[in-house]
Amino acid sequence: MTQKTKRVIALVDCNNFFVSCERLLKPELNDKPVCVLSNNDGCVVSRSNEAKRMGVEMGAPYFIAKNQFKKVIFLSGNLSYYCEISKRVMDKLYDYTPDVEIYSIDEAFLDLTGLRKTFNCSYEQIIEKIVSDIKDEIGIDVSIGLSYSKVLAKLANDKAKNLQKIKIDKKTYKIGYRAIEKELKETLISEVWGVGKNTTALLKKHLIQSAWDFVNQNDVWIKKNLGKIGLELKQELLGNSINPVNSTNTAPKSVSRSESFKEFQTDKNYIINELNSHIHKVCKKLRNEGLVTSHIGVMLRTKDFLVFDNKINLINPTNTEFDLIDISKEILDKIFIDGLIYRSVGFYASKLTPQNEQQISLFNSKETLKKQELSKSWDKLEEKFGKGIVKFGKEVNDV
Ligand SMILES: [Mg+2]
Repeated sequence: MTQKTKRVIALVDCNNFFVSCERLLKPELNDKPVCVLSNNDGCVVSRSNEAKRMGVEMGAPYFIAKNQFKKVIFLSGNLSYYCEISKRVMDKLYDYTPDVEIYSIDEAFLDLTGLRKTFNCSYEQIIEKIVSDIKDEIGIDVSIGLSYSKVLAKLANDKAKNLQKIKIDKKTYKIGYRAIEKELKETLISEVWGVGKNTTALLKKHLIQSAWDFVNQNDVWIKKNLGKIGLELKQELLGNSINPVNSTNTAPKSVSRSESFKEFQTDKNYIINELNSHIHKVCKKLRNEGLVTSHIGVMLRTKDFLVFDNKINLINPTNTEFDLIDISKEILDKIFIDGLIYRSVGFYASKLTPQNEQQISLFNSKETLKKQELSKSWDKLEEKFGKGIVKFGKEVNDV
């Protein structure tokens, strides 16, 4: 048997994802019954809550559904656009933890174990922040299930979704240790992630109806009838993580930061200050990971979720603010349009390589070292006095 490990695992799932993406472009679709169709308009692949309540089934063939539900708006799908929104959501998740397993276009598992200390708040508060950040910055509604294994996190997510179906606005749902028994008693074994029709039929024969009935079977019986997978399922249902969150990329491919402004903004100076603060956070992360970047970008998001972005390759890979602030300002100048109202600014660094592989050019090595020393002493000051103790002003910029 695999060794038991206590983990805290979340499943993030975008609600009615394709419909939500369409609503980003066409807010007039909000509150209306909307369905998105598969390739060549074959069948329904995403439904708004309104369409669900009217009884449109997932997978319903379009030629039948369009006659049956005359008030529903059916839209052709646009997969490449949905992929782009999906990428934005998934990238955002890396702001909270590197342990992200992208499970499908609209679902990802996160291993949050230990992050309570990092964020100085409870796990519930962390997932609530993820929900509100993704809504504010990308405009997409997500639900998050929180528990101790992937199977329980998935179940918790289903519970949140079921509450939403009956119009209860609950975006997050936690299954804590004390709730496991009650939740499993209320869950049919067929509703558990990974339990298919054949397994359900087999278990039914042995009078096993609920997930709680299942975990109360002894290991010998489970192994004989369902094999190792059955034993693993039992452990996962009891809150012991057997299948870890599989984050494929150990070193980040890119680092990005963005945050919505407290209020919508037209003031460029305000935006530059926010941008500089993101640059600092990204650089700090790069220094902590021992990485340098040779490709950076700035993105501006308007009140109406239009995105303007621009990027640039760097000749000398770096991880210090002192190299990046002026260049980023130039990028911002290119994309900033006077008179538009903005909701957020973001900064990202990609093409990351280990710092020790960095080729220091003979001509600027002294200057580079000086900047790196300055950046490091900044990190030390923050460690001592807290974040935000040093801000980029004119004086610092002139170094
Ligand atoms: Mg979904």
